[in-house]
Amino acid sequence: MSDTCATCTGMCCYDVIVRVTGYDAWRIKQAQALQFEQFLTAGPDEPAGQGAFLLGSERRALYLGKNAANERACTFLMHLPDGFRRCGIYAERPTVCTVYPMTFTNGSVALRPDVRCKAANWNMATITYPYWRRNLLEHLFESHVYGIVAERWNETGGKNGGTLPGYFAHVERCFDSIDALRSEIGKESFDDLILHWQQPAAEGDAQRRVADFLNEVSSICAR
Ligand code: SF4
Ligand code: SF4
Repeated sequence: MSDTCATCTGMCCYDVIVRVTGYDAWRIKQAQALQFEQFLTAGPDEPAGQGAFLLGSERRALYLGKNAANERACTFLMHLPDGFRRCGIYAERPTVCTVYPMTFTNGSVALRPDVRCKAANWNMATITYPYWRRNLLEHLFESHVYGIVAERWNETGGKNGGTLPGYFAHVERCFDSIDALRSEIGKESFDDLILHWQQPAAEGDAQRRVADFLNEVSSICAR
């Protein structure tokens, strides 16, 4: 956690709709020994984004549920006695949470225009750019991978009147295999793959490795 966030009341986890990727959901399920139904909801795909899946004729997306003690808060937000709030799944939090409050603007790391932090909280002259850039690239990459997983569902189970439990089973099956594939590739090589993703000037070998991984994801989820 950044020093900035350590003294904040966590307004980014309040009154927000947290859209997650399938790999976020899979990681949280594994680490917390939860069922998808216990922390996810399937809401409308609005605004339209990657990872929209069909339930009948409806396009849906995965969102974190709300807190039983406070429906304005994320289901995983812990309320501490001193008035501070903390993420209860910090190590496994969704990538959309790891990148907040930054975004890419014209390819550079920048504060989101709709940032909920106090204006004085972030000094852009002192942030660690490689950290934020890597997190943002990872978030974009995971969103892209999840988009492939959802599209394979839409071509098969979804268009045949699929149900939410059926979609959860698809997500679990796909990411069981995708996670195993990532382990085979190894963390260092996978990080390198993420860093090269979307780089127009990437070497041929880097481009091939990214393409191979994405093709394998597509193939795994079509089985
Ligand atoms: S990202 Fe902003 S709102 Fe969220 S905990 Fe950090 S300083 Fe607070
Ligand atoms: S998962 Fe954690 S960081 Fe993300 S919104 Fe929920 S409490 Fe906040």
